[in-house]
Amino acid sequence: MMNKCTCPECGSSEFITEPNQYDVLIFTKDGFKVQSSKTIEECKIFCRECSKEIDVLNSTSKVVLLI
Ligand SMILES: [Zn+2]
Repeated sequence: MMNKCTCPECGSSEFITEPNQYDVLIFTKDGFKVQSSKTIEECKIFCRECSKEIDVLNSTSKVVLLI
């Protein structure tokens, strides 16, 4: 059942930001070390199920896809 709180494409209620948030790693004698954490300022949100990008600015009263 789709509602305003779910992805309009597939109905999933889970969303992710991972594609635009990542850690920079360096490899040392002790193994991988986090050098810096980079977060792109503009928050992008994707549907976890179908990977469609969500239109964050227009998703005020319901989830809207960025097309
Ligand atoms: Zn979806």
